[in-house]
Order: sequence, then C-alpha cells, then structure tokens
Amino acid sequence: MSIVEQVEWPRASRPGELADRSAQVLPDVLSIDVSVVVPVYNEEAGLHQLFARLYPSLDAIAASRGIRYEIIFVNDGSRDRSAAILSDQFRLRPDVTRVVLFNANYGQHAAIMAGFERVRGQCIVTLDADLQNPPEEIVKLIDAMRAGHDYVGTIRQARKDSAWRKAASRAMNRIRERITHITMTDQGCMLRAYDRRIVETINQCREINTFIPALAYTFANNPVEIEVTHAERAAGESKYSLYALIRLNFDLVTGFSVVPLQAFSLFGAILSVASAVLVVWLALRRIFVGPEAEGLFTLFGIAFFLIGVTLLGIGLLGEYIGRIYEEVRGRPRWIVQGVLERDVDTKTVG
Ligand code: UDP
Ligand code: MG
Repeated sequence: MSIVEQVEWPRASRPGELADRSAQVLPDVLSIDVSVVVPVYNEEAGLHQLFARLYPSLDAIAASRGIRYEIIFVNDGSRDRSAAILSDQFRLRPDVTRVVLFNANYGQHAAIMAGFERVRGQCIVTLDADLQNPPEEIVKLIDAMRAGHDYVGTIRQARKDSAWRKAASRAMNRIRERITHITMTDQGCMLRAYDRRIVETINQCREINTFIPALAYTFANNPVEIEVTHAERAAGESKYSLYALIRLNFDLVTGFSVVPLQAFSLFGAILSVASAVLVVWLALRRIFVGPEAEGLFTLFGIAFFLIGVTLLGIGLLGEYIGRIYEEVRGRPRWIVQGVLERDVDTKTVG
C-alpha cells in the first residue's frame, strides 16, 4: 500500500533541489531557484544604492549555495525617474533582471501580486526598494527555506521607524491577532520568503485589496519567523501616508475576518431584543396603568418597536453580506496537506 507521508505531499521543490513536479509544470524555467520581487514607487533617489547591494548579495548566495536567481522589479506607477532607472538596469543585467511597469499607482501589495504572477523561481522573496530591509539578510531566509519551511516571516530587530509608527504597529498587531487569529509577530515587515506553491495559491485569489503576508500565512504548512536587521530608509520618504496606512490595516482586518460585521449584527440583534422587552413593558403599563404623559409612552413604545425591527434587519443583512463577501473573494476553501489512501489524489487546493 502506498501512503503519502505528511511531509511528502506534492509541493514545489526547495531551492537547489528541483523536483520532478516542477520539471513537468515548468520545463522552460527549470533553472531558476530564487525569484526576488521588489515593488518600486518613486524611489529614484535610492535605486542605485539598492542595485549596488542587492546584486552582489544575490551573486554571493548564488555562488555559495549553488542556486540561480532572478529579480523582478515592479514599478508601481512612479512619477519620478524610477521606470527609466529600472529599464537601464535591465539593459545592464538582462540575465537576471525583469521589470514590470504599471501605468498607475496601485499600491505595494498589488505590485507584489503582479510580480508573483510572473515569478519563475521555486522560492520567492519579497523585498522593499528602500533598503530598510538589508539585502544581505536574504541569505538567512533562503537557508530557512532550504531547511524545509514553506514560509519565512521576519521580525525586525531594533526597528528604525518613527515612534508613532512603531506604537501604531504594536496596537494593530494585537487587534489583528485577536480578530483574525493570524499569528505574525511583525506584520509590517515585507522581507519574506514563500514557497512557489504558496505563491501559486495566492495567484488564484482574485481579491483586489489584500495583505500578502497574512494571505500566505493562511496557506502555509510549515511557517517560521526569523529575526532580521532593519535600517533607516536609504533615501526618500515613506510612501505610506497616514491615510494609506489606515486603508492597509482595514484591508488586513476586513480581508481576513468578518468579525467586525458580525459584532455589529450581534449588537443589533441584542438591542432589538431589549427594545422588544421595553415595548411589552410599555404596552402592559398602557393596559394596567392607563395612558401616561398624554400617550407619549405609547409613542415611545411604537418608536422602540420600529427601531428594534430596523436593527434586526440590519443585523440580518450583515450576516448575509458577510457570507457574500466570503464567496466573492473566491479564495481556495482549503489546502490539503497530505492524503492517506491507496490511490494518491494530488489535488491540494479546494
Ligand atoms: N511602494 C509601492 N507602492 C506604493 C507604496 C510603496 O510599490 O503605493 C513600495 C515602495 O517603493 C517600497 C515598499 O513599497 O519599495 C515599501 O514602501 P515604504 O518604504 O514607503 O513603506 P514603509 O517602510 O514606510 O512601511
Ligand atoms: Mg520602507
């Protein structure tokens, strides 16, 4: 009897050890092990510094670990010279450089998704363009992937951001953990590595506003978090305004939980029950005590009744909307880690 072991479920191979499955699926791109995806938005001031550190780091990893890499830059509709600088870089290192150009600014996560759709590697690393995450740390992520993890998250040691950003992040981390049950110590750090299988699953999700590290976490079998160093921005300013940060956190909470919606509908249901009790009490008083305050209480009774009906209606709508929302996201409903049976079924995504 053949039994699929837990750890031997069909998955993409790890860097440096290409499996048969990838040979069947991706015959033309067999040789790429690591794809680095870098979103770029108005980063002209720091791009040359990035190239000067990223390429040598990856060349060193390629030499020491015997892997092949590619870098996919996604220009997220920059209004400065970033697109031209990336095009020049492509001409300099066409062997390992690919550039995707957006016509407008769609946001960091959309840019990364566009990169994900084109990756050829078995292991995919995301990196910010501003050098806050040192490219020299990528080797740690690749080693963790080679050790068998399919998702490597990171925790920034001595994070170099403004005090209010750090405080807001801490608070959001806690709220998000309670609401979504996704455990990430440091949700904001985008230097992460993903197995190709996770990226392919992410590519199946057609949702527009998303938060990639959280999405990947829900699809991972063997995630790990490692510590990485963090630096000040090499040049330029953060591309996230307060408004953009709030929107991003809304994406994170609403994208991974309908708890806020359900809390509201539950609140509506409780209030409508309370108002029903009040209405009954006012009706009894009307019968046994007679009209009070010239019928004002009766009027209150009617008003409470109508408010109760409305709240209950909103609550019910909330429940339906929550379900519709979960449907339209179109995420895979489950990921099968392994199957124990005689005839092996290789379907991993439901
Ligand atoms: N970025 C992007 N599109 C945007 C905003 C940011 O592609 O709309 C890129 C940006 O160029 C950088 C990365 O996303 O490579 C992280 O942005 P930033 O450093 O401004 O964020 P912070 O570190 O302040 O959270
Ligand atoms: Mg940054």
